[in-house]
Amino acid sequence: MSPMPKVAVVGGSMIGLTAGLVLRDLGCEVDVYERSRVPLEGRGVGIVLHPQTVRYLLDNRLLDLSAVSTSAAYHRYLADDGSVLSEDGRRHHFTGYNTLYGTLLRAFGRERYHLASEATGITQSEDGVEIEFAAGERVTADLLVGADGVSSFVRRAMVPDVQPRYGGYVAWRGVVDEKDLTPETFAALDDSLTYYFRPGTHALTYPIPNYDGAVEPGRRLMNLVWYRNVPEGQPLADLLTDRSGRQRDVSLPPGAVRDEYLTDFRDTAVAQLPPPIAEVALKTAEPFLQVMIDVEVSRMAFGRACIVGDAAFSVRPHAAAATAKGADDVWALSDALRRSGGDVPEALRLWEPAQLELGRALLARTRDLGEGAQFRGDWVPGDIGLTFGLREPGDSADMRVT
Ligand SMILES: Cc1cc2nc3c(=O)[nH]c(=O)nc-3n(C[C@H](O)[C@H](O)[C@H](O)COP(=O)(O)OP(=O)(O)OC[C@H]3O[C@@H](n4cnc5c(N)ncnc54)[C@H](O)[C@@H]3O)c2cc1C
Repeated sequence: MSPMPKVAVVGGSMIGLTAGLVLRDLGCEVDVYERSRVPLEGRGVGIVLHPQTVRYLLDNRLLDLSAVSTSAAYHRYLADDGSVLSEDGRRHHFTGYNTLYGTLLRAFGRERYHLASEATGITQSEDGVEIEFAAGERVTADLLVGADGVSSFVRRAMVPDVQPRYGGYVAWRGVVDEKDLTPETFAALDDSLTYYFRPGTHALTYPIPNYDGAVEPGRRLMNLVWYRNVPEGQPLADLLTDRSGRQRDVSLPPGAVRDEYLTDFRDTAVAQLPPPIAEVALKTAEPFLQVMIDVEVSRMAFGRACIVGDAAFSVRPHAAAATAKGADDVWALSDALRRSGGDVPEALRLWEPAQLELGRALLARTRDLGEGAQFRGDWVPGDIGLTFGLREPGDSADMRVT
């Protein structure tokens, strides 16, 4: 019999699937339980690549990243009129959520990937953990891994007093086909991670693969992320009320934003953004948005259960490293299980301190970056501290993709 534990992973997005694969390779028997009734798609639009995010796929030669990723050789900062304030040679690679999720899911297979499985109850004993699902089914495991995202049920069950904290602004997001951009705008944004900031707002664009997978310049999508301050309370609640009158909590998907806010989005783009970035905003067919919230926990391990990825620390996107952090949680868990010979409580004791430290440090850095851009207005064009990275700014730049 394998000394490695039987594992139930709750949440089947990128980090849940990474956990499924890494722990299965370690010798664990793993099932992944996902609330959604259908395979996930299209979320997050663009993902900035970091070595840890794609470590499993590269180690196992499951993905030719050069064929499915775009890249930008420069960090470019624009002035109000669209002229270049500063430009530095720092290459980043980008891909789409679907590419990574789809490849992870194919690698894990569908046999032990359970859709329509919403965890609703957890009971622990010294010997195991029992998970109950909305449909009434129960399963038992030696280890429960909560990879169920920012609104994590596992976290709420383990540390109910932890509350997400609103950062005071939202990220508007959207994509435009590069072929629909004017030649001037294409040239202004090409081969670049392009930033613009002014007091109270900042925006960035970068190229990502098109829906059909095209990664050649001119056939890709230009991805826009535009951060705008929204006061807490009624203004935020009203913005998050969708076309059907339902108030959402952390995001509004494409097609859900009400007309008055779409009009405001476009008017403000013209008034506040430099012409090339404003054009991307104006040509975005269905802008959608995500609320910037911080989640911080003081524990990630609870007997035979643990939380990883956004379920533990939900950080702002300014370091583009949340997925990398979640993957790091998973790889470290695998190392700890190996070191403990499969003893779950011992492995979680070994694992927790460094992952708490990583989560806290990333949260602090991304919070500081967000406040610097949105409230203090102290970003300096070309500052290396603004560069994407997991453990430090810049550690996701210039990665190898072959
Ligand atoms: C504007 C923006 C830009 C970003 N850009 C980047 C980037 O460039 N690079 C990067 O690394 N990250 C980026 N991120 C962050 C990234 O999207 C998340 O960190 C990442 O998707 C988290 O993965 P996860 O698997 O932990 O959680 P999620 O992707 O949120 O998945 C959680 C899963 O759990 C399921 N679930 C929830 N509750 C239950 C339950 N009770 N039972 C069963 N299943 C459940 C959900 O259906 C979902 O599929 C960005 C985020 C934002 C907001």
